Amino acid sequence: MKPLLGGKGANLAEMANLGIPVPPGFTVTTEVCTEYQLYGKEKVMKLLRPEVLEGVQHIEQIMGTVFGSVENPCLISVRSGARVSMPGMMDTVLNIGLNEKAVEGLAKKSGKEKFAWDSYRRFVQMYGDVVMRVNNFLNSDENPFELIMDEVKEKNGITTDQEFTVEDLKEIVKRFKAMIKEVTGNDFPDDPWTQLWEGVMAVFESWNIPRAVLYRQLNSIPEEWGTAVNVQAMVYGNMGDTSCSGVAFTRNAATGENKFNGEFLIDAQGEDVVAGVRTPLQITQKGSKEWAKFAGIDDKERKTKFPSLEEYMPVAYKELFSYQHLLEQHYKDMQDLEFTIQEGKLWMLQTRNGKRTGDAMVKIGIDMYNEGLIDENSALLRMDANKLNELLHPVFDQKAIKKANVIAKGLAASPGASTGQICFFSEEAKEWKEKGKDVLLVRIETSADDLQGMDSSDGILTARGGMTSHAAVVARGMGKCCVSGVGALHISYKKRQLEIDGKIYKEGDWLSINGSTGEVYEGKIDTVSPKLSDDFQEVMKMADHHASLKVRTNADTPDSARIAREFGAVGIGLCRTEHMFFEGVRIKAMREMIVADTEEGRRKALEKLLPMQRSDFEGIFKAMHDLPVTIRLLDPPLHEFVPNDEKHQEDLAVEMGIDVDTLKDKIAKLHELNPMLGHRGCRLGNTYPEITEMQARAIMEAALNLKDKGIRAIPEIMIPLVGETAELKMQEDIVRAEIERVFAERKQRMNYRVGTMIEVPRAALVADKIAGYAEFFSFGTNDLTQMTYGYSRDDAGKFLDIYLEKGILKDNPFETIDQEGVGKLVKMGVKLGRKARPGIKLGICGEHGGDPRSVHFCHRAGLDYVSCSPFRVPIARLAAAQASIQEWLDHHHTNRQN
Ligand code: PEP
Ligand code: MG
Repeated sequence: MKPLLGGKGANLAEMANLGIPVPPGFTVTTEVCTEYQLYGKEKVMKLLRPEVLEGVQHIEQIMGTVFGSVENPCLISVRSGARVSMPGMMDTVLNIGLNEKAVEGLAKKSGKEKFAWDSYRRFVQMYGDVVMRVNNFLNSDENPFELIMDEVKEKNGITTDQEFTVEDLKEIVKRFKAMIKEVTGNDFPDDPWTQLWEGVMAVFESWNIPRAVLYRQLNSIPEEWGTAVNVQAMVYGNMGDTSCSGVAFTRNAATGENKFNGEFLIDAQGEDVVAGVRTPLQITQKGSKEWAKFAGIDDKERKTKFPSLEEYMPVAYKELFSYQHLLEQHYKDMQDLEFTIQEGKLWMLQTRNGKRTGDAMVKIGIDMYNEGLIDENSALLRMDANKLNELLHPVFDQKAIKKANVIAKGLAASPGASTGQICFFSEEAKEWKEKGKDVLLVRIETSADDLQGMDSSDGILTARGGMTSHAAVVARGMGKCCVSGVGALHISYKKRQLEIDGKIYKEGDWLSINGSTGEVYEGKIDTVSPKLSDDFQEVMKMADHHASLKVRTNADTPDSARIAREFGAVGIGLCRTEHMFFEGVRIKAMREMIVADTEEGRRKALEKLLPMQRSDFEGIFKAMHDLPVTIRLLDPPLHEFVPNDEKHQEDLAVEMGIDVDTLKDKIAKLHELNPMLGHRGCRLGNTYPEITEMQARAIMEAALNLKDKGIRAIPEIMIPLVGETAELKMQEDIVRAEIERVFAERKQRMNYRVGTMIEVPRAALVADKIAGYAEFFSFGTNDLTQMTYGYSRDDAGKFLDIYLEKGILKDNPFETIDQEGVGKLVKMGVKLGRKARPGIKLGICGEHGGDPRSVHFCHRAGLDYVSCSPFRVPIARLAAAQASIQEWLDHHHTNRQN
């Protein structure tokens, strides 16, 4: 149902089937959205007309109202709803059907003139914003509607929307309409049918507004899905103090705790709760008490001024409580609910699987499994592997935090710890991040337009907004640390500064926030990696039980090897040796080797490098004892090790005691027009075999040294950038001959493997021949992608973003593997490699090894392992399990169908 009706539409239909009260309505399918994009408005309206007429009649019948009537108007909402939730990204119009006459009819019928005019005010504002797109004509950060309302407030000496009188609202509506006419040149429409059609079309149109397009890109949602439009009778939470609107979660979306919770506002419409303009009240009594304690309000004051829904409307609360339970049991997942109570009667407006933090995802999955609500397969499959990233998020360093100064407190909206420089504007956050700054985005509240800025920031801090505010929901979705609703925070965008307790903090100053406690600290506070929960370990255990693909890590220091091992890596899939040559005295010896004229000169320098390299390997083998460690021989072009500016070249000449011009000459000779396709990889080892010899010796001596101490090393020596079989054979001969010399000197032997990377397309094409000399393959999909596409890894940034924007590419092929092209080469390499050498070990060590979609691909391609950076190991473990389960389910499904 969801592909056609969208998430919201399908769930509304489902709720109606369960006997839960939802306002009557109908859904225009997502297919129509696609037709709208293809054929345009007129054609689609013509096709839709009879069905929409019928649908509206159906609503009229159930509600006992008439669309377009003056005395008894039927009011309608038009809401977007894509296949997956895109919170706040697309548009909605409420109160359609109101005009100067109908508003009087509504006032008379309801006996609430203020409510009627407030609804009309909201309608004109929303319609002006969403359908007539007033903001497109203005070039200002200020909201023109809010400006008018602020002027009226100021004139009358009031501060909140609730204090508006009927006369104020009438004036506001009049001024809104005049402003719309002035800005857009068009009259505000009075005809309800025009309002309805334009509203529906505006929702279709909103599928392609920039923030929705960006959200789709960030979340890999295909453009062709389109949005459905839900046309529904209006129900009102702003009909006075027996009415309210709220949102609720069946479990805690931040921690995963099994506690019903949520927020509501009396005499308000749904958008007021989400907008964070007024402080919402808690739904449950327990939640309300906790909130009051946190806010420093005593229970008596809480009960009278800030009661919970449970206390304020016990009957409706009971009903709501039973529906939340029913819905969670039905969908077998945590639900995010929206409801309205109109004059005591509860209406459910929406239910959907709730967005949650990584912590909550893990806890809810394990809890529901333990409750018997879901099985192990569902528990694992429904987890978003990438979200585990958040659990691995940093927390504040214990020592540093003790000295830190809490300057304010807000809501713990999205967990983790973050430290950054204050930035007030979303566009600037992006620029700052690109410059490498740590960014803390500070806003009064955020809106959908801040999406890019939030994505670029390290943390988000807002002055307004509850746990369900835009900032909180989006930050949790992105896995960003966020503290919202900090009452003590006063922001001046104009002065680019904020004030807390009389103290001024300027743009660029450092603040730190704890999204797990809501605390805001002065200054920069160091962060460290977190401790992992039992639930997390349980998920990992379950995952390993299902996964057939193993997970190794890319690590070239003992420290990162240890972290990866703690995260469950079962070996090193790629240890890049070049990184070891940059530190301190090593770079000196390395440079000496590079500028030497003769083999003898190079050997002399390599002799200095040997003990350092050997001790590096000892450290890594020790950290990875009893697990395989794939060490790659030197890969990058040599010029990367020498300075390229004159000043440093001169310094180097002095340091090396050689003539500056001679040195410059040598460095100039190393220059290559296309170094990534130049003198690198095995081409180095085959032109200067002594480098390969030194590395092979260092590896084996390190392994034997540990063997003497009773520590078992499992070395795998990997030759990079092979394309021609003879390239590998020559390297293999050099490696094995040198190792034989080491064995002879030490009078002992041990097992080791020699293999190669498959990262040049030719190697994949002749993998059967290559396998004759390789005991293992590791697909280097970074270079393989570079050379298959012909996109430079270093320069592709210039056009990749534009290619993604224009839809030429669906994904960045350096992030998620191009299954169609690069994937074909991988599959070919697997097939040919196994044919020639049935027991050959196959892995991948490009960046793709830590990307869940690529991990699924690797599983299907039949690899033995993926190798990824240490912090992505748990993600890859979960993805590997999901791939196995999915394969099993698909197989089962096909068998059942046959
Ligand atoms: C690769 O090319 O995929 C690879 C892992 O090697 P590097 O990124 O070091 O070139
Ligand atoms: Mg490579």
